[in-house]
Order: sequence, then C-alpha cells, then structure tokens
Amino acid sequence: MNTDHNGYQDRILRCRDFEGEGHGAEFLFTAGQQAHWARLGFSDPIRCARHRAIRKAQKVHRESVPETRPVRHARRPLIVNYD
Ligand SMILES: [Zn+2]
Repeated sequence: MNTDHNGYQDRILRCRDFEGEGHGAEFLFTAGQQAHWARLGFSDPIRCARHRAIRKAQKVHRESVPETRPVRHARRPLIVNYD
C-alpha cells in the first residue's frame, strides 16, 4: 500500500462493467490517481481502466457515425489496373 503526501491511500474498487464475480472485478485506484481525480473534481471511478477505454471507444464510434445521415456507398466498380 502506498500513501502519498496528500494522505491518499491505494484503494481497491469494484468495476461496474465486469460481468461475473471473482478476481478481475476489482481494480486498484492508486493514491496518485485519487489525487488526480480530486483535482479534476471527479467522484470515484466506477469502472476499471480497461472498461473505461471500451466505453470511450464505443461513445466515440457512435458520435462519429450519425444515424440520421446514412453512409453513401460508392457505385463505382472496384477495378484495379495492373499496367
Ligand atoms: Zn472492468
């Protein structure tokens, strides 16, 4: 266990997105991360870094592909000239 100069201590939190029980559902919220989180005004993380990354990727993907504007497929046949 680490305690930094701000008095934060490493803590074990449970990941909300982890399916099932057992090892892996818990993740370390380090003293350094807690200090950083507190500076940003965030509350305790509810997901491990891995699931946060997955969530973020899904969110970015959704926002980059608006459903109201269907993707127009190119009508041009795919012909490659080998000359
Ligand atoms: Zn997780």
